Amino acid sequence: MQADYDDIIDRAAATAKAWLAGFEERPIPPTAMVGDVRRHLGERLPATGSDQDAVLERLTAAVEPGLMAIQSSRFYGWVMGGTFPVALGADWLVTAWDQNAGMRDATPGVVAAEELAGEYLLDLLGLPATADVGFVTGATTANMVGLIAGRTAVLRRAGWDVNRDGLAGGPRIRFIAGAERHTSVDLAARYAGLGLPLTVEADDQGRIRVDLLRSLLAEGEGPTIVCLQAGNLHSGAFDDFTGAIEAAHDAGAWVHIDGAFGLWAGAASGLRHLTAGYDGADSWATDAHKTLNVPYDCGIAVVADPVALNGAFSIHAAYLPRPAEGFDPYEKVPEMSRRARGVTVWATLAWLGRQGVDDLVQRLADSASALAQGLAQLPGVTILNDVVFTQVCLALEDDEAIAALAAALRADGTIFASPSRWRDRAVLRFSVSNWGTDETAVARTIEAVRSALASIRADVG
Ligand SMILES: *Cc1c(COP(=O)(O)O)cnc(C)c1O
Repeated sequence: MQADYDDIIDRAAATAKAWLAGFEERPIPPTAMVGDVRRHLGERLPATGSDQDAVLERLTAAVEPGLMAIQSSRFYGWVMGGTFPVALGADWLVTAWDQNAGMRDATPGVVAAEELAGEYLLDLLGLPATADVGFVTGATTANMVGLIAGRTAVLRRAGWDVNRDGLAGGPRIRFIAGAERHTSVDLAARYAGLGLPLTVEADDQGRIRVDLLRSLLAEGEGPTIVCLQAGNLHSGAFDDFTGAIEAAHDAGAWVHIDGAFGLWAGAASGLRHLTAGYDGADSWATDAHKTLNVPYDCGIAVVADPVALNGAFSIHAAYLPRPAEGFDPYEKVPEMSRRARGVTVWATLAWLGRQGVDDLVQRLADSASALAQGLAQLPGVTILNDVVFTQVCLALEDDEAIAALAAALRADGTIFASPSRWRDRAVLRFSVSNWGTDETAVARTIEAVRSALASIRADVG
C-alpha cells in the first residue's frame, strides 16, 4: 500500500518554516501551560480517526503557545543549544529513512555515517583514536554508559563477573565524585547500582580538590570509580584532569569525565588548555544537542577500551549474529533499537569542518565573556564566577532581588536565563549554548536585564 507522504510532509514543512521564521522575535517563554494545551488537543482518545492534515493542524494550534523558544539567540536557560539548519535537515532525513541503527550489516548506510561521526569526534576532541563511541539520548545516559563500562571492568579486575553474577554479593565499588558534580551523575550511578558517591570537596570555582581526592583514595582500597567534570554547570570550570587522573590511576581507579557541554572546549584552539590531560581518562560523556546545536536527542558516550564497553553492553543471539567486522552499534549502548541520531552529528561536523567547530565553541565562550562584562556594569550586579567558558552566574544584593528579576524577565520575554543557587546565593545563570548568540544578541540581553532591574527597583522604591 503506497501511502500519501507528499501532502503531509509539505504541510509539516510549511508549519516548521513558520515556526523557524518566528522564534527569534516571539516572546521566549510559553504562554500556555500543560493544562491549556491538553484541553486544546482533546483529553479523550477519539473513538474513530480523522484526517491527517486536520490532526497536524490541531497539533500545531494547540502546541505552539506552549513552546519555549529554546532556539532563540537570547535563550540561556539550563544548558540547551539551538539547531543548525543542516542538523535539522539531516535529522529529518533520519526520520524519513526510518533505519534501525543497531546493526552494521543490516543498515550499513547510517552505520557508516555514525561510525565516521564518532571518528571525527575523537579527532576533534583530541581523545584516543582507539576509543569507541556510542550514540545515546543525552549525557545522563552517556554518563551511565561510562559508569557501567567502568563498573564491569573494575569488578572483572577484582575477579567478579557482574554480567553473570550481578552486583549483590560482589565487592563493593567505591564511587567517588566532586561535590559540584551535575545531578545526572547521581542518577547515572543509581542506574549503574553504585549508590551515592563519596564526595570530595570542591574549590571556589567548583573544581574537585585533588589533594582531598588523593587522601580519600588512600583511605580505602578495592574496585574504585572516580567521576570528574569538564564544565561546571554554574561556573563552567574544569577539574584539574592531569592531577586528578594521576591520583585516581595510582589507586587503580577507573576515571569517567562528565563533559556534557565542556568536552567541546577540547575542539577550540583558544580553550583547549582547559581540558589539558583529559584524554588520560577511561570514559567520557558529552552531548551534541547542547554545544554542537543538533536537535534532541543526541548524547555521546566514549570509552577508551572498546573491549570494556563491549563487555558491558554486548549480547548475541541466533537472530543477532556478530557482524562480519567490528562491533555492532547496539553493543555500545543500552538500546537495541534506536534512531540513527549519529547521522545528524556527521552532517553537522561535515558542514562545520574542524575550523567551524573551533569558531563555534570560541564564539560561545567569547559571548559569555562579553555578557559577563556588560552585566557587571549594571547597578548592584555581581558576577560570582570566573567566566572561563560558557557559564555566567549573576547575583544581586539579596536572594529576593534575584527572584524579582527572574519574574520581571519572564514577563518581558526578551531573554530567558535560569534561576538557581550557587555558593549559597540565589543566582540567575546564563548558559551561552546557542550558535546564534552574537554581539547583537548579547547587547539586547544586557539591555533587557538593565530594563528589568530598573523596573523591579522602581517597584521597591
Ligand atoms: C546537561 C548536563 C548533563 C545531562 O545531560 P542530558 O543531555 O540532559 O541528559 C550532565 N552533565 C552536565 C554537566 C550537564 O550540563
